[in-house]
Amino acid sequence: MTNPQMTSPETTASAPESRDILIIGGGIAGCALALFLAKAGLPARVFEAYPDVRGIGGGLQIAPNGLAVLDQLGLADALAARGTACERSSFRDRHGRSLGGMANRRPGSPGRPAVMLARATLQELLHDTGIARGVRIEHGKRLAGFEDDGDGVTARFEDGTTARGALLVGADGLHSRVRRILLPDGPEPTYTGLTGTGGWTPRAAFAKAGLTDPGAMTLFFGAGAFIGCTLAERDEASGGMWWTSLARDRPLDARNRGEAAESIGLDQIIAAGDGWNPMVRQILGATTEMIAPVDIFDIASLPRWCQGRAVLVGDAAHAVAPHSGQGASMALEDAITLARLLRDGRPAEWPGRLAAFEHERRDRVERIVAFSRKIGALKRRGPFGTWLQNNLMRLFLSLRAPDFSWVQDHRIVW
Ligand SMILES: Cc1cc2nc3c(=O)[nH]c(=O)nc-3n(C[C@H](O)[C@H](O)[C@H](O)COP(=O)(O)OP(=O)(O)OC[C@H]3O[C@@H](n4cnc5c(N)ncnc54)[C@H](O)[C@@H]3O)c2cc1C
Repeated sequence: MTNPQMTSPETTASAPESRDILIIGGGIAGCALALFLAKAGLPARVFEAYPDVRGIGGGLQIAPNGLAVLDQLGLADALAARGTACERSSFRDRHGRSLGGMANRRPGSPGRPAVMLARATLQELLHDTGIARGVRIEHGKRLAGFEDDGDGVTARFEDGTTARGALLVGADGLHSRVRRILLPDGPEPTYTGLTGTGGWTPRAAFAKAGLTDPGAMTLFFGAGAFIGCTLAERDEASGGMWWTSLARDRPLDARNRGEAAESIGLDQIIAAGDGWNPMVRQILGATTEMIAPVDIFDIASLPRWCQGRAVLVGDAAHAVAPHSGQGASMALEDAITLARLLRDGRPAEWPGRLAAFEHERRDRVERIVAFSRKIGALKRRGPFGTWLQNNLMRLFLSLRAPDFSWVQDHRIVW
């Protein structure tokens, strides 16, 4: 019988002079980066902690700027065909009364409208396309640590294997181990005081509830409570989606997570909105599957994103709260930017290219993290704050719609 602890490590190591780019994490940022590196003809290996990445997460938005990145991989059409284009937002108060609406983009904005879909659809498309295009993705490889000896970097995995490469990219998400190694005294992600959850419904539930515009997301603001609803996946049986964020003093910790996940049921969500209104109750009542609660964290700013031959991308570098619908799109923008900089430099220049990447991306993503935090604050107001906010919203929307073109019209040339 083999004792796993006595087994000599399976050798995944390459020669020290390996030009491989080691990507830790096969999520949105990791898979997209690997696809762009493949497009550039650069060798990459992706190491994903979990044996499988399918079916994970709730719904999300790919914004026009994120779709423009996917277009350069030839994937935007496939995604748009799976989700629902979202052109407008409509705002309502607790009772369901309209506060106004707005187009999500300025008239004449370039590109495609945002697409709403399941996070798993995006993840699986990137992953499966990577495999089809020859990207090496290894599952069940959880990074334990890494060493940068100046000539290259060696990644060590919890299963005892190692890998050697020219660069190591931490695409390992919000609770990134790469970040903790690069910045042992660096800031931890900040809990924003909101925990998100939601559910999937049949698409037909929306029309039954009186939400008849398929290209609009509807956002209800109650006293200290919020619910968003939109059509997402094309699947008739579960293509509708609603989401909410519940104000909490502290995140669900690992110990009470399972318990809390069960206790955040429809009754609690309806009670948080003081009963809400028939539209919301109709949508929630049609829920076919709940989305597991997720504590909403963000990372406003890190002292640095890179050192030597290692760099952070995506949520590992700059987690964005979901309220702006930009987390996945920021990860996609990172992927194309880093791959382009590496493509355009000789391997000897690559460490310098990591600093150039940070320089190119930092201001934009920090601004978007701050923007997202501000939108999140709208969902945490008490009764008076919500009343005031709703009245101001009604007034502002009737005067001039806000302009988000600085977020959505951004284009990165490959
Ligand atoms: C409730 C919620 C709603 C959201 N809504 C939106 C939205 O509407 N629009 C939007 O654009 N974004 C949204 N987001 C954010 C979006 O999902 C992320 O910002 C985006 O997926 C970032 O991609 P990433 O690759 O950096 O991280 P992730 O997608 O989290 O991927 C990280 C990967 O690294 C792996 N990993 C972790 N540790 C290790 C390790 N030690 N070794 C190897 N692998 C490891 C993980 O298993 C994972 O596969 C939302 C997020 C939440 C929580």
